[in-house]
Amino acid sequence: MDPPPASRLPVPKRAPAAEAAPGPEQKRARLQPPARARPPRRLASARPQRPGSAAPPGLAGRPLAPPPGPAAHAASAPGAASRLAVAAATAAPKTGRALELGGGKKKRAPWDLKGQVSDLQAELKIYKEEVQQLRKGGQELEEQRQELLARNGDLDRQLQAVKSELHVSQEQAQQRLEEVKELSDLKHQLEQQLTDTTRTNKELEGTNKDLEMAKRDLSALLEAREGDLAQSTQENRELKAQVTTLLQAATQREDQLHQLEMDRRRLHNLVLELKGNIRVFCRVRPLLPSEQEAGKGLEHLHFPPQDNGALVLSRPEESHTGRSCKGNTRYDFSFDRVFPPACSQADVFEEIAQLVQSALDGYHVCIFAYGQTGSGKTYTMEGPDNLDQETLGMIPRAVRQVFQGARELEPKGWEYSFSASFLEIYNEGLRDLLVGRSDQAPDLEIRRVSQASEDLHVPNLRCVPVASEEEVLKLLHTAKANRSVAKTIQNDRSSRSHSVFQLCIKGYNTDRALRCASVLSLVDLAGSERLKPQSKSERLRETQAINASLSTLGLVILALSKKEPHVPYRNSKLTHLLQNSLGGNSKMLMFVNIAPLEENIGESLNSLRFASTVNQCHIGTAPAHKKGGGGLPRTSDVGGGGKGPGPN
Ligand code: ADP
Ligand code: MG
Repeated sequence: MDPPPASRLPVPKRAPAAEAAPGPEQKRARLQPPARARPPRRLASARPQRPGSAAPPGLAGRPLAPPPGPAAHAASAPGAASRLAVAAATAAPKTGRALELGGGKKKRAPWDLKGQVSDLQAELKIYKEEVQQLRKGGQELEEQRQELLARNGDLDRQLQAVKSELHVSQEQAQQRLEEVKELSDLKHQLEQQLTDTTRTNKELEGTNKDLEMAKRDLSALLEAREGDLAQSTQENRELKAQVTTLLQAATQREDQLHQLEMDRRRLHNLVLELKGNIRVFCRVRPLLPSEQEAGKGLEHLHFPPQDNGALVLSRPEESHTGRSCKGNTRYDFSFDRVFPPACSQADVFEEIAQLVQSALDGYHVCIFAYGQTGSGKTYTMEGPDNLDQETLGMIPRAVRQVFQGARELEPKGWEYSFSASFLEIYNEGLRDLLVGRSDQAPDLEIRRVSQASEDLHVPNLRCVPVASEEEVLKLLHTAKANRSVAKTIQNDRSSRSHSVFQLCIKGYNTDRALRCASVLSLVDLAGSERLKPQSKSERLRETQAINASLSTLGLVILALSKKEPHVPYRNSKLTHLLQNSLGGNSKMLMFVNIAPLEENIGESLNSLRFASTVNQCHIGTAPAHKKGGGGLPRTSDVGGGGKGPGPN
């Protein structure tokens, strides 16, 4: 008979240790739920902390998930291992029973089917129970899985929180890093500054040492200087005393100088008065080149060499029938000075320079040029058209001398100011020669300066302040240009009019409260020739006006010399204009200009006779003497300015 067939149920392999059939205790132990796993370790205790790195707040003491891995799974899943063990153990009884059925129990006889069924039933029952056990174990495992999932979620959340905290910490760390960087830059800058400051400090120390040395040197120098100063102070005191003495001496000298200047003025005036307040010079012009070519001569004019004031004219005397010559008639003239043709402008000016000095000293001075047209009046007064230093006339030379004299008086405390005017009198009308014809003010009139004053002036007449000879030359040029315009309009008007240049001189001596004022007048008179029979009526009127004014001039001089109660100044514009400058202590000089040709002898005789009359006049000398030897008045006004006798 065949052994009974083995169980058709699969028999799991058994572990050798579990060979023995489990007893009821073992089975119970296997079926019991596994003991609970130890609670998970806390991270804080599990992970060693670095010294000084504190765990972030909130993390401390919180349980952390164990590191992943099978062991951890086993540890983190309490009961999971035991359940696996149960699963393994559950299989064990089967083999054990099979063994039991196969070897330990007595094998049933093949025929004992009933017994075999009963064995199988018993075995089935055991299997059912094990299935039951396994199901239960599976349920528990599911619960544990759920629990683990929940825990895993917690851990995830914790991980997120930690991550976000870590992010914040990283940001803070980044911030700190930047701050550290800034601080490091700042430190670098400060170090740089410190280096600079140290260097500067060293330099300053060097400078300080130098200064200290300089200070020491200066102190020594100062001491030396103080010594010198003390000595100098002493010397200074002595010098001051000397200066005081010298100043006193200087003041005395100044007083003496002033006194001398006043004496000079007085004596100068006295000399001129002794020479005569009216003086007459005769000037004979040389032959012009054209006249020389014509072979004309000067035979009728004689200049006695022993007398420089004498002029002799000789004229052939005709018979009554006019056919034969009876001989020469001799005309002797005597003047203060006669200038033969060869005399230069400089020679002539030499004689009048003293008069110019008088003008600076405060005396009115009038210089006239009288004579027929072409006799050299304008040449004498202004010079020729092509002026040079040689040919400069009396006006520019007088002006130069005035400015020079004023400069020389400056050290004596005198200050001067000057103004010039230039007008012409034509047909008893006044015209400003410094103003163009179109700009001419209508009707220039001679008026009194004020009701209370006898002084006269011409309102609207241009009076130009001048300070140099050049400025005056410019004015002469302007006047000449304005005159020559008129010359083309009217036939040689310049010779038919009087031209009057006036320089007003004002002097101040502020230290001594003295002042002087005078007018230097230089007059180029109209041609003195008589009217030619064939003259037109216009020329007749001109000539009458000229003759009237020239004869008035003569009459005024005569009246002044005779001290007549009435001086006919107002009979002509010329004498009216010069009223303040004629008479009294005023100085007057008349040039009588003579043309050298024999054909001019008639006019020359007329001029010389007029001049002789004037030459015989003496004005102002007597009253000056009466004032005690011509002494200067002791008022604040010096000289004879503004002291003309007036119309009495
Ligand atoms: P007036 O003014 O009397 O009419 P000017 O002065 O015009 O006469 O003189 C007439 C001319 O004679 C001019 O050409 C002038 O240059 C000349 N003349 C006059 N005097 C002299 C002199 N002393 N030397 C040289 N030329 C003279
Ligand atoms: Mg002239």
